[in-house]
Amino acid sequence: MNQNKSNDKPASSADSIEKIVSLCKRRGFVFQSSEIYGGLQGFYDFGQLGVEMKNNLKQLWWRWMTKSHENIVGIDGAIITNPKVWEASGHLKSFVDPLVECKKCHHRFKADDLENKNQCPDCGGQLTEPKQFNILVPTELGVIEGEKTRSYLRGEACQTIYLDYKNVLDTARLKIPFGICQIGKAFRNEVTPGNFLYRQREFEQWDLQWFCHPNEMEKWFEYWKQERMSWFKSIFTYPENLGFYQHEKLAHYAKKAFDIEYKPSPVGKEMEGIHWRGDWDLSGHSKFSGQDLSYTDSETGEKFVPNIVETSGGVDRTFLFLMLDAYTEETDRVVLKLNPKIAPYKVAVFPLLRNKPELVSLAKEIYRGLKKDFSVVFDDRGNIGKRYYAQDEIGTPYCVTVDFESLEDKKVTVRDRDTMKQERINISQLPNWLKEKLEM
Ligand code: ATP
Repeated sequence: MNQNKSNDKPASSADSIEKIVSLCKRRGFVFQSSEIYGGLQGFYDFGQLGVEMKNNLKQLWWRWMTKSHENIVGIDGAIITNPKVWEASGHLKSFVDPLVECKKCHHRFKADDLENKNQCPDCGGQLTEPKQFNILVPTELGVIEGEKTRSYLRGEACQTIYLDYKNVLDTARLKIPFGICQIGKAFRNEVTPGNFLYRQREFEQWDLQWFCHPNEMEKWFEYWKQERMSWFKSIFTYPENLGFYQHEKLAHYAKKAFDIEYKPSPVGKEMEGIHWRGDWDLSGHSKFSGQDLSYTDSETGEKFVPNIVETSGGVDRTFLFLMLDAYTEETDRVVLKLNPKIAPYKVAVFPLLRNKPELVSLAKEIYRGLKKDFSVVFDDRGNIGKRYYAQDEIGTPYCVTVDFESLEDKKVTVRDRDTMKQERINISQLPNWLKEKLEM
């Protein structure tokens, strides 16, 4: 299936997010969390199709990181850590958002987002002076009142990588340069959660922390910047919609920082950050923990604190942008032109008519056979046109129909989601035909 088509898709319109929200709910991709109680702002659940798509996405990332590169291993760290971690990382002091409130309508805004810092964009009322809010989410550990200790849900997943760096180094026999990657949840008390999955209070990040010699930072920064962009381009339907944004305001330890953006997004555009972290993290944790986190080169004997190039992206934002990119309205159908590797189902199997037992039985047999190797769905409701429509809308790349001829010639009709072209394929050859098409 041709993924890298020319950009015949119009830029996302302002209502495209609403269309995605509606599709996600209607078809079981994403639900508002605790909806029956009125929901909770900034929290979402992935439904039966969403979880398949998100898992496909995370597996692609994990395999690409750990199998397509040398010297990268993964971890899965705890969400709650010793609270000192957040002191050492600087989050307790500086993980803050300035918040302003309108004195008239009492709407609240992140001061950084406002052009006019004095006037309410909703009602024109006067705004309060900005107040600083720490966006770490606190939690209490222990059961006895008065003896509870305060800790925090991790504000960024990468901190656990720094904490485990020495353990991994001592047990995995790695030499610099090497990487540790992780996919995991992060939590932020965002002042303005919103725009669906774009700004949540609980979300998932995928991070690589690449440990290298300080003299090699330029080389590795450029390498990871290009690597990450080419990976994203390989999974988006319209790769030309992706681009870099270079940050001008930098953290004091950073020499440069770039975002990978989904340019046509009607909400925020940032999907992943490529960050120059230098020795900031390991030196900070070394100082606060009293542990030596330096590295000694076994060949030269040189001792140094490794420098870090970080690639830190949002799984949920990537999910949202992939949806926006793939969503296509054609004259008589809505089609989600998702990369087949990411689509929740790879193939749907239908009997032409549901009241013909011989067709249903053969379709069921094909469905059960394919189920061993593919994510496949069986559907015998409504007419064939409606079934195609339903599969197009959730991005299923191929639909297989068993008709009366199939009983004679042992062939089925396979329809391609994007071109809508149909082909007759031998039932015995179907698994291999699909594997080839899906590049499995
Ligand atoms: P922003 O400027 O949008 O607040 P950030 O620069 O603070 O994001 P990072 O701390 O670099 O984000 O986090 C890495 C990635 O995690 C981001 O590129 C984004 O994809 C994702 N991310 C960050 N905050 C959120 C959030 N509130 N909801 C969903 N994803 C998020």
